[in-house]
Amino acid sequence: MRPPLVRPSKLSDSKDGNGKALSSGWAANFAIGCTHGCPFCYVNSIVRRVYSKRYRFLTEYKWGDYLLLPRNIEDLISLTPWNRLKGEEVLMSSMHDPYLPQLVEITNRILDRGLREGVRFCIQTRSTLVLRSFKLLEKYNSQVRLQISIATLEENLFRLIEPRVPSPMKRLKILEKAKNKGIKTGVIIAPILPPVPQREDLENDLRSIFENLANIGVDQVFGEMLHPRGTNLKLLEEVIGEKISISDLIKLDKKIGKLFETLLKKFNLTGRWWYEHWNDRNRAFNKPKRGTKRHVVFSQKMRPRLFRPTHLIYSSLR
Ligand code: SF4
Repeated sequence: MRPPLVRPSKLSDSKDGNGKALSSGWAANFAIGCTHGCPFCYVNSIVRRVYSKRYRFLTEYKWGDYLLLPRNIEDLISLTPWNRLKGEEVLMSSMHDPYLPQLVEITNRILDRGLREGVRFCIQTRSTLVLRSFKLLEKYNSQVRLQISIATLEENLFRLIEPRVPSPMKRLKILEKAKNKGIKTGVIIAPILPPVPQREDLENDLRSIFENLANIGVDQVFGEMLHPRGTNLKLLEEVIGEKISISDLIKLDKKIGKLFETLLKKFNLTGRWWYEHWNDRNRAFNKPKRGTKRHVVFSQKMRPRLFRPTHLIYSSLR
């Protein structure tokens, strides 16, 4: 992989972002794949589109069973022009969980370097291993927001759709600890699935998530429906044992969005439901805002390129 480690991202509500306030227009992704292997995840479809020629062997692996790391991670960290990112907020990460067991040490090194240079980070994880960064996060708490993702509190459903991550209650505990250390906290409630046999009442589930978030005093709450992309719908249907109707998803987006907004008010929380834009093939996509040029931080020489030599460190969990 060529430097810089931090690259432009649309996951932002600044200028040319797509309205998802997760960064000021930057993301740090330093692995290909995610061993959490959540069946609803659509990153696999992006990996296949972007890297299918370069890493043909990936087609032999199921989502969750591969993880590629750049060999030159130290160079990547040291050659990233952190000083030019001072004051910017970087999403860590958008293409993998930064707190996979295999990534914790690297994540800490990146945070340490960036935070010392005045860079801000929005950390997004489903893992409790973020606890291993808490000393650092506490020290630089004005530069950090820690966000976790939760799809449901229903145990039967969680075990199927997030099989390799700690329970949602354990993830919420992390936020409690973060609050006590003065770290800004957030939650993305996602993906919201349409009614499935493993969840008796979707609206009740959402309400109890909000109750928990209000008790903790979470600073921000975002939410969105399931995005059907690549093979994620098929993988989900396999674990749930039922067909998922895309027309249900489209209808529910508005209905759950309204409920979400009502719950935000009721529990006195701040946040936003990310309504989807559906195209004529019933695919959800995030419509970017138009018209403004993004600011340039990196020189032409430092423009993003594809990953260079990597090694397969994790071929299969089974
Ligand atoms: S933890 Fe995030 S990136 Fe990893 S598989 Fe689950 S949804 Fe995808």
